[in-house]
Amino acid sequence: MAPALLETEAAEGFATKAPLKPTAILHRTPWKPLVATSAEGSYVTLEDGRTLLDAVGGAAVACIGNGHPEVVQAIKAQVDKVSYVYNMQLSNEPAEELARLLVNSGGGGFELCGFVSGGSEAMEGVIKLGRQYYYETKQPQRKNFIARQLSFHGNTLGTLSLAFHKARRAPYETILDHENFHHVSPAYAKRFKKPEETEEQYVERLRQELEDKFLELGPDTVIGFVAETVVGATTGVVPPPKGYFKAMKSVCEKYGALFILDEVMSGMGRLGTLHAWEQFGDNICPDIQAVAKGLGGGYASIGAILMSKKVADGIRDSAGFWKHGHTYQVCHQLIQTALVHPLIATQQAHPLACAASLAVQKVIANENLLANARTQGAYLSSLLHERLLSPNCIAAPYIFDIRGAGCWWGIEFDFESPSAPKVGFKGKSFAVLVQQRALDKDLIIMGMTGTAALDGSKGDAILLSPAYNITKEQIDRIVDGFLETVEEVLRESFIQ
Ligand SMILES: *Cc1c(COP(=O)(O)O)cnc(C)c1O
Repeated sequence: MAPALLETEAAEGFATKAPLKPTAILHRTPWKPLVATSAEGSYVTLEDGRTLLDAVGGAAVACIGNGHPEVVQAIKAQVDKVSYVYNMQLSNEPAEELARLLVNSGGGGFELCGFVSGGSEAMEGVIKLGRQYYYETKQPQRKNFIARQLSFHGNTLGTLSLAFHKARRAPYETILDHENFHHVSPAYAKRFKKPEETEEQYVERLRQELEDKFLELGPDTVIGFVAETVVGATTGVVPPPKGYFKAMKSVCEKYGALFILDEVMSGMGRLGTLHAWEQFGDNICPDIQAVAKGLGGGYASIGAILMSKKVADGIRDSAGFWKHGHTYQVCHQLIQTALVHPLIATQQAHPLACAASLAVQKVIANENLLANARTQGAYLSSLLHERLLSPNCIAAPYIFDIRGAGCWWGIEFDFESPSAPKVGFKGKSFAVLVQQRALDKDLIIMGMTGTAALDGSKGDAILLSPAYNITKEQIDRIVDGFLETVEEVLRESFIQ
């Protein structure tokens, strides 16, 4: 998640309190991470005995926290029944039920679904499904995807090519696909809307840019436009301006291309609605959608690809099955099966992953957790606004934006205002310093860098994404710890 960590920060260590055991893992962090030994709800206990409050659920993944007894029970029951069958041969009960649940969501916009092992695999699957759709419907000249700058769609070569985030791409730039993947501007009004523009004019500029890109590439060569409904990992919970997706979808429809949403982070309840696009009205249900993080809630490695009737029909009327798959998750017979048994609307997938994921979704429904996410989110928002923007808060002059919904909030900082007291971070990034200091205070939050420029070269944001069953008391503790941390780091960084 922390994409743009600087090499200079590598030696610092994430939390330096405990003696670290040697590791045989090539870790993703420049520091050697501490080992978690147990976890319950939103609390995680470490090998050094400390217990942390997790305000981000990993990377907006653990949406009902750890160790929920119903999910644990569902996994145990499934492992006793069927732990694995190969999806090229057999299906399984939890996969069928989970698929039905997903296809029934979204107000009738989805017809079929397929399962994979996570978000990157889901977005790879989306790319291949989009291409297969036009291959089957006899438009083989369609080969181009249009996505956006400052975006993230995964860490495989295909998804790195699709997205555009300079720091994440950098080591792989020469082996990425530069031919079939193209990029237009992000939709980030607070940063990139011109002062003289209205929101409507800004949206029209972005719509025109997309249409111009279609025309430049040849409108009948475009497979689809791909965007995160609310941008997560690259800019920190950035929602679209009003009417944006309606406008972008209209361009796709005009030229017969697909409208594709990546809800790997923003979906499955994160914003307080099951699908993030439900927040924005305008009938913007996509032709293809990816979900993952909140689908398994961390209990299982799982992602899903949802598709509209149009896409399903295109394939059903031709090959009849998805020409894509993985040993652990996916099967080629998906749509064939659906033809024979109209009630079966999915690919088979790993039974344990699907049982866990199904149980997570049932907990969210039965415990009314989307409502709790909205309630606690509103409380979190009011505390953040009230306390960070208070004249008594030394961080107030540096707050650029506080944004989000449900259990997903981004706080973006800006240190360039000439009227604010000067601060310097000695070549480090503020967001990373705050993340590290918070951990010393037994609080897990996420620092993100590179949010403020198209090339990802500057900008600091903090992400808060607590579990949907977070309590008011825990929100209080998160905000207390976060404010204390931010003020402490700032106090040490003032330049006289
Ligand atoms: C996390 C993420 C992915 C990649 O998911 P993984 O499970 O890490 O492979 C893709 N798209 C978005 C928007 C994400 O936030």
